[in-house]
Amino acid sequence: MARKKIIAGNWKMNMTPSEAVELVNTLKPLVVTEEADVVFCVPSIDIIPAMEAAKGTNIQIGAENMYYEEKGAFTGEISPNMLTDVGVKYVIIGHSERREYFAETDETVNKKVLKAFEHGITPIICCGESLTQREQGITIDWIRQQIKIAFLNVTAEQAATAVIAYEPIWAIGTGKTATTEQAQEVCKAIRECIAEIYDEATAEAIRIQYGGSVNAATAPELFGQPDIDGGLVGGASLKPDFGKIVNYK
Ligand code: PEP
Repeated sequence: MARKKIIAGNWKMNMTPSEAVELVNTLKPLVVTEEADVVFCVPSIDIIPAMEAAKGTNIQIGAENMYYEEKGAFTGEISPNMLTDVGVKYVIIGHSERREYFAETDETVNKKVLKAFEHGITPIICCGESLTQREQGITIDWIRQQIKIAFLNVTAEQAATAVIAYEPIWAIGTGKTATTEQAQEVCKAIRECIAEIYDEATAEAIRIQYGGSVNAATAPELFGQPDIDGGLVGGASLKPDFGKIVNYK
């Protein structure tokens, strides 16, 4: 069965709750499609108002992060039950900004991935190399290690429903998109790694996004690659251009 594309916006730390409602209202007529799942991953405080604004549309509201404990003395964190209680079905895990500024590691990513699955939330698991790693020629080795740790103790049934976002760090927010060949090469290697960990069926089912300065001009070629099942989009997800990215064909 062909994999359905998934195109997700990552709003990062942008948009107040009232701005979020405005943005959802602006984008909702532009992102109508039956060919892809459309997810807006928004700041925690925007989840409820954005969800209200997106009611009756094809937009699903996701979270940008989640903690791996159920509840308790973890000031400032958001729990899986808090997300499921309001109907959140997707959460970004291990974005490179969280790894860089908030001490996320492959191990905490794995804990969060397991916890998301336990609660029926689909993780969008981020991986990606730095420019130095690319220049050293260790991109594929690095990504394979990130994937292997992220998926420790995840079952094949769970893995088949996961989303992986391949996001070269040097391409995030820089305006520098990876070439189509670079993006396809790594997404293919990720699928092969999943096949090694699990089996061919799981590798065929899992959805792999590319992320890193995707825009309306670069989306068609990137999303047309055999192993790229859509994108995780930062900057351009806050603009009407996101409609063109969603309807890239
Ligand atoms: C991101 O935040 O995941 C991202 C890819 O950002 P941008 O599209 O702005 O590079």
